[in-house]
Amino acid sequence: MTRANARTLFERLAEKDPAPETELYYKDPFTLVVAVALSAQATDEGVNKATKKLFTVADTPKKMAAFGEKKLGDYIKTIGLWRNKAKNVIALSNMLLDEHGGKVPEDREALEKLPGVGRKTANVVMNVAFGAPTIAVDTHIFRVSNRTGLAPGKNPLEVEKGLEKIVPADFLQHAHHWLILHGRYTCKARSPDCGACPLTDLCLYKDKVFKEEKPKPAKRKMASAPKLKTAKPKRKAKKKVTA
Ligand code: SF4
Repeated sequence: MTRANARTLFERLAEKDPAPETELYYKDPFTLVVAVALSAQATDEGVNKATKKLFTVADTPKKMAAFGEKKLGDYIKTIGLWRNKAKNVIALSNMLLDEHGGKVPEDREALEKLPGVGRKTANVVMNVAFGAPTIAVDTHIFRVSNRTGLAPGKNPLEVEKGLEKIVPADFLQHAHHWLILHGRYTCKARSPDCGACPLTDLCLYKDKVFKEEKPKPAKRKMASAPKLKTAKPKRKAKKKVTA
């Protein structure tokens, strides 16, 4: 995709949603790290259900560490891979207390050293909590970048590097959320909604899907109800009076 088209693409996404935000529930950098760590291979909706309750009782590294793996497990059992995630969240809480004074560090390298925090999670935290112009390539961004031709790549890192080169600097801050939301709601994995997509003319995907509009059911003419013929009462024949 050309640089000019990439700019137009982001202008259109920005027009639709000028200030996109994460759909994950969080209160501060720590709860964001926990929410993102829990969201691997799970839906934001599923994670939010669990964290809305969890963060009322454990929303700091100190409280989380004191909570322990077993109690935490009770709150996140509905989320896939919860056992491993519980172990990581407790370990990262302890590491934040021991090495960072209970605060979430503002640099990617330190973030990536936290248990259960990979490059993607670190990028989300850098972007959402600290306003850094990072792009975390998840499944949606990977798909949209490849389909549109914006930043094709065989793996997330290749796509991330491609995006860093092509996304105009003034759109980098929100590019992450624009692409995620576009992938989640329009350029869906199984069936992209190309008919409703504002990027159709810019997108290089060869197998665009335009859903046929279902013909509206023809209005049926209400058959007028047959009028009931009311039979006139037969006059009684006058009896002939015979003399
Ligand atoms: S035109 Fe279709 S394939 Fe291209 S970005 Fe839009 S929804 Fe995705």
